[in-house]
Amino acid sequence: MALKLPLQAPEFCQNTLLKEWNLQCRSGNLLSALQKHWKTFALVVFANNYESSKEDRLAEKFLLRPMEHFLCNGDPETILKSLKEKDQPSQLCGKVFKNGEPTYSCRDCANDNTCVLCIDCFQKSAHKKHRYKMSTSGGGGYCDCGDVEAWKSDPYCEIHDAKTKPMSDQNPIEVLPEDLTDRASALFMATLHYVVQMLTWEQCDCLPSEIQPEGELDDSYITMLFNDELHTYEQVINTLQRAVECTQEEAVEHATIVDREGRSSVRDGTFSYCEKARHIIEHSTSRHGSKPLKVQIMHTIVVAHQKFALKLVTWLQDIIGKSDGLRRLFCTLSTQPYENGESLIEKLILSDTQMWKNARMLVHQMMMSGVLMDQECKKQFSIIFTKHYEAITREFVSDDHNRPVSITSLSVQIFTVPSVVGY
Ligand SMILES: [Zn+2]
Ligand SMILES: [Zn+2]
Ligand SMILES: [Zn+2]
Repeated sequence: MALKLPLQAPEFCQNTLLKEWNLQCRSGNLLSALQKHWKTFALVVFANNYESSKEDRLAEKFLLRPMEHFLCNGDPETILKSLKEKDQPSQLCGKVFKNGEPTYSCRDCANDNTCVLCIDCFQKSAHKKHRYKMSTSGGGGYCDCGDVEAWKSDPYCEIHDAKTKPMSDQNPIEVLPEDLTDRASALFMATLHYVVQMLTWEQCDCLPSEIQPEGELDDSYITMLFNDELHTYEQVINTLQRAVECTQEEAVEHATIVDREGRSSVRDGTFSYCEKARHIIEHSTSRHGSKPLKVQIMHTIVVAHQKFALKLVTWLQDIIGKSDGLRRLFCTLSTQPYENGESLIEKLILSDTQMWKNARMLVHQMMMSGVLMDQECKKQFSIIFTKHYEAITREFVSDDHNRPVSITSLSVQIFTVPSVVGY
């Protein structure tokens, strides 16, 4: 049976699925059970070229909601809310900024211009009446509310000032119900395994065997254009107008996405149709002896699974933000040895420069959300980072042109947190 796109959703029953996942989880096979589901449904959602609102809706229904129900074994909203209530009050905000979110600094009180507040903290802070400055975050970075070393005065907003109870030393994982801890552990590991695998996947026309569709594949490909620092915006726009016969407006849109996210799908269709565009792009950008723009012809199924992996990164970030216990559990699991003595977080750090910009940014945001709010996790993370520092920087230096954002920026963000310096 050949895979035909667009792929219709087969019969779907969340309860049957959850029963199967629970059963497999108890025998240590959750990853295979998830892969079996994702093998079809990641394509149903992400391989059909739906507009993004429809894609989001289907991803919720077929992929994310079942995982939340599995994790909670009940209504996610009620159960996650009751977990949140068990959190230690934190005097640190630590909210990680998404691209486009406003940030506020105070000219009177900030110790340097990297010290910023999120909008919620700012509106409840004394700095609202000082000489403040508003900016827009490019993604990454986090709110410094509650960090006494970041502010000359008024380090706490009203929300975080109220939480001045002394912290207890209890491990937050211990307050989680035991069966939830088991399911969360299996789910975090399986999800992160898939994320690492797909974001570092380098084959263009096949998937890891566990999720490769059966039979022959449809002739359905994508011409993927990557960013570099050699070619100007104008060159990319001119080339695209010729290569994929689009309007100037469309070419500008592609160039903007390439610049912002590190890659953009500029054409989809049969292999030979996509190949034609690649040939023209490479040919016209390599004249005068310069290195051509990087273009890859990727099968739709590979791009679809990578889209889903990115969705899961954001989902994980969101879930671990729901409770101290889930966050600590995620950090502990993701930093412990997994394969060849390497942890999954190490695998992500070490392949940082192989990933495209958007993947890298989302992974950084997830890591920051994981480590910044928890001293124990910061410590774990800095041990790993220190261990790989040389390899990471070597990789960074050898990859000279197209990686403006790098692990270096992550380390700067994490290691400028004053409390980490002692480790
Ligand atoms: Zn804040
Ligand atoms: Zn605050
Ligand atoms: Zn101020």
